[in-house]
Amino acid sequence: MMNARADKTEPGQPQAGVRSVTLLGATGSIGTSTIDLIKRNPGRYRVEAVSANRNALELAKIARELNARFAAIADPAAYGELKDALAGSGIEAGAGETSLIEAAERPADWVLAAIVGSAGLKSALAAARRGVTVALANKECLVCAGDLFMRIAAEAGAQVLPVDSEHNAIYQALKAGRREDVSRIILTASGGPFRTWTLEAMRKATREQALKHPNWSMGAKITIDSATMMNKGLELIEAHHLFDMEAAGLDVLVHPQSIVHGLVEYIDGSVVAQLGSHDMRIPIAYCLAWPDRIQGPAARLDLAQLGTLSFEKPDPIRFPALAITKRALEIGGAAPTVMNAANEVAVDAFLHDRVGFAGIVELVEATLEAAERRGALKEPQNIEEAIGVDHMARSLAHDRLREIAAKAS
Ligand code: NAD
Ligand code: MG
Repeated sequence: MMNARADKTEPGQPQAGVRSVTLLGATGSIGTSTIDLIKRNPGRYRVEAVSANRNALELAKIARELNARFAAIADPAAYGELKDALAGSGIEAGAGETSLIEAAERPADWVLAAIVGSAGLKSALAAARRGVTVALANKECLVCAGDLFMRIAAEAGAQVLPVDSEHNAIYQALKAGRREDVSRIILTASGGPFRTWTLEAMRKATREQALKHPNWSMGAKITIDSATMMNKGLELIEAHHLFDMEAAGLDVLVHPQSIVHGLVEYIDGSVVAQLGSHDMRIPIAYCLAWPDRIQGPAARLDLAQLGTLSFEKPDPIRFPALAITKRALEIGGAAPTVMNAANEVAVDAFLHDRVGFAGIVELVEATLEAAERRGALKEPQNIEEAIGVDHMARSLAHDRLREIAAKAS
């Protein structure tokens, strides 16, 4: 069914001219969904630049398909392969961290920041500094340096649009009233693969079990974050920065069906929510077309067929990550930066069998405590300081990792 508004924005009928776009993290899960939407809307988007970590062949294929002007590969060792794969296409190639920044700085009206982890911070920031629209998927960048990122974006006049489904839902629900009349922001969480597992079973969870998300198909890091529920913790901090809301006004509600993505409660008791099937192409399409809407390919929501939606409180015993993130938010300063870096180290260690499932959150907690003991939680004053804290926390986390791994064996 199409309503009058959707009629206005039929695919292939650009409304406000062609939008030039850059895709940072083009080979990832979010990048792939974005490319799918771009291909479904021929003539509406022109691709300026694309980036990837080290898969040069895949990046070259994408760059050719989308007729991009520039392709950036983070790993310098993959430069030769990228150049060869682009030979004769007229597409420029770049490598290393500076090439990611160059990609972000090239003239595009809209930049997707979908690199995973704090590795995406500098390029996302380079896009924000240009005062363009930044569709932000990379939540770690807000957890690592949210105050700085939002301040720089505001000063440059950049429009930050949340790609993360919960934040995108909240962004839409916030349009129903005035910001000062909002009393509470609620993020839903699927609860991940271990929602109903016992603590004992969770401790022994394998990588394969943790990588099996019940609803969403996503990159490995965020899938593990969903299993520990650290993802929701990171999202609380993300919401704090995006919507300027204190921790006390942010809540998490477990909702296993992932249909209601986010809710906004107003002072009169009205609660406005956004619903949709669990397909990231819905929030991505919102950002890609903003402030218009485009026809989306995601399955339409059939509530009658679903029948029941259920909600429950998160269990703080089995999912301590939520309390840790709230604590990091309360401590403030560099605590979220430290926590994020430690979590990136911990997830990577889990994915490489160097720590058990329970060790992930244990490592995050131990790293945060170690940084606190050292008095190393001073608020970073600029991006270089935030990156310095990120590096310091990674090294602290590696030390703790050896202790935790030794204890477990
Ligand atoms: P992914 O692992 O599938 O893709 C990550 C992308 O970043 C790839 O293109 C990869 O090549 C690139 N990359 C990885 N490390 C890099 C590095 N060091 N330097 C430069 N590039 C690097 O991840 P994803 O699931 O697409 O998630 C991307 C971001 O979006 C994450 O921050 C995630 O939390 C967020 N997010 C994802 C989803 C989802 O459904 N996948 C939903 C909400 C938010
Ligand atoms: Mg999310």
